[in-house]
Amino acid sequence: MCATNEEWFTRAERLFPGGVNSPARAYAAVGGTPPVFVRGEGAYVYDVEGKRYIDYLAAYGPLILGHAHPAIVSAISRAAAEGTVLGTTTTYEVEFAERLQSAIPSLERLRFTTSGTEGVMSAIRVARAFTGRTTIVKFSGCYHGHADPVLGDAGSGTATVGLSHVAGVPAETLRDVWSLPYNDPETLRTTMRKRGERVAAVLVEPVVGNFGIVPPEPEFLRTIHEEAARAGALVIYDEVITAFRFAYGAVQSLLGYTPDLTVLGKIIGGGVPIGAFGGRRDVLELLAPLGPTFQAGTFAGNPLAMRAGLALLDVLAKENPYGELERKAIRLAEGLTAAARRYRLPFTVNRFGGAFSTHFVDGPVRTYADARRADDRLFSRFFHGLRERGILIAPSKYEAWFTMVPHTWDDVEATLRAAEDVFAELARIA
Ligand code: PMP
Repeated sequence: MCATNEEWFTRAERLFPGGVNSPARAYAAVGGTPPVFVRGEGAYVYDVEGKRYIDYLAAYGPLILGHAHPAIVSAISRAAAEGTVLGTTTTYEVEFAERLQSAIPSLERLRFTTSGTEGVMSAIRVARAFTGRTTIVKFSGCYHGHADPVLGDAGSGTATVGLSHVAGVPAETLRDVWSLPYNDPETLRTTMRKRGERVAAVLVEPVVGNFGIVPPEPEFLRTIHEEAARAGALVIYDEVITAFRFAYGAVQSLLGYTPDLTVLGKIIGGGVPIGAFGGRRDVLELLAPLGPTFQAGTFAGNPLAMRAGLALLDVLAKENPYGELERKAIRLAEGLTAAARRYRLPFTVNRFGGAFSTHFVDGPVRTYADARRADDRLFSRFFHGLRERGILIAPSKYEAWFTMVPHTWDDVEATLRAAEDVFAELARIA
């Protein structure tokens, strides 16, 4: 019988390239063999050897109520009993979309997809159709899923496995996508003034979650909106990570700007695969059957995701956990920063609401270039030190920690005690 993590991972390696179904899960950047997991409950996940971890990975963002929240389990069970996919319009799609629309008023029209990748891909297509232009402006280190046009100079998984160019993506595709530095209004302004008439859309993570957590500087965000408007280009917010992470609704409501299009995913599905894109009615109504552009999906809007999403919104609306999520993140961020300082380690925490990232570099971390400078060896030892002590974060210096509703204050303090130990170890090798 197969019992250990090691044995299970060896079996996985005989099936999946690198043993994983998504490369971010591999330990490419940190070395070693990943544990293999069997279950999650609340704030904890358990590997096949029965070891428990306090989970800050949150499955790379979809989880906010933790694992197997009773309200979501019950919604999914009821949905399963009544048909997981009907291939028709259902009442649940309508109800869920209405709820999203009232939380995110810029969604005059929307479509559900089954992943964030598809949401971005479709938003780009409809933006190109609307403007009759092909160029997309994006920002270095932002990750927008794994569709061809957005894989140039992307952060997150591609950065973690060290790919600046992705083989198989045609050079012609990338020629139409200009990747500019984040938080650099000057470069953006110059580019848009020179060649803005070619730009269909400026695509941005309004708060970055894919080279750490990096909020936009006010002038940068203002420049995006001003220059896009001036050039007749659309603004697309990729809120796959940010929507419902920081507030009930999208982060656009906190930042004070309204994009033309918004892409959603992760949290909104209550832990079930989902994506969505929406925004201006005149743009979305270019989609078939109303218009000449096409987008589709067999599982788009399936009742499992819709009903899990509805249950999630009910809980979030009722409990409004955002203040508490932020307080836990503040305590973690401050505790980690203070401990790193005691051991004189180069260390910067970036935080926005209940999400933060840990960078082994003297700050500030405002751009992808800053995040890349962080020390790989220190991060790797930090990651493994935490893992050995039962704390789970992503095996990448570019990914975030997420607080979740079921994290207790004891979990937070236990995490800080573990980190203190690990920093002491790091100080010996730094
Ligand atoms: N956009 C952003 C900002 C993301 O972080 C991700 C996933 N990490 C995606 C798009 C792609 O979503 P999915 O993995 O569901 O395709």
